[in-house]
Amino acid sequence: MQKTERELPAHKRVALVAHDHMKPELLEWALLRKAQLSEHSLLATGTTGKLLEQKLELPVNSLLSGPMGGDQQLGALIAEGKVDMLVFFWDPLDAVPHDPDVKALLRLAAVWNIPVATNQATADFLIDSDLMKHAYSTRIPDYQSYLDKRT
Ligand code: PGA
Repeated sequence: MQKTERELPAHKRVALVAHDHMKPELLEWALLRKAQLSEHSLLATGTTGKLLEQKLELPVNSLLSGPMGGDQQLGALIAEGKVDMLVFFWDPLDAVPHDPDVKALLRLAAVWNIPVATNQATADFLIDSDLMKHAYSTRIPDYQSYLDKRT
């Protein structure tokens, strides 16, 4: 498919998700990075979002819990261009019942070319990037021209 461009705005919509054993790590990271995160809009899967809101005392738009459909809601928002960055601390040492949803979420983040951090080191690199403060043009599939050619 051909590519087109989408602008990730300076004020970003940052999605945060952590599997249960990874929640302490994400909460600790988010608290350390609270000042930077507060410059952006936050959304999260249900339980992660509730915990973040308590810890950070910042508004977090919480979706359904991941295993109950939250990962899929987030994936749909990414496909609609409504999420600009994903911080997803998935658990590399434990199986989860909603593994297909986890794969789908990571897949859609790759399809729609948004920055993704799956561990604390990468999250640090992303949040400290100068691009967090500026608009950035990302290359995405040109679905509209694909559709136009097929109809
Ligand atoms: P949760 O979902 O934030 O509701 O725990 C996370 C996940 O397992 O995807």
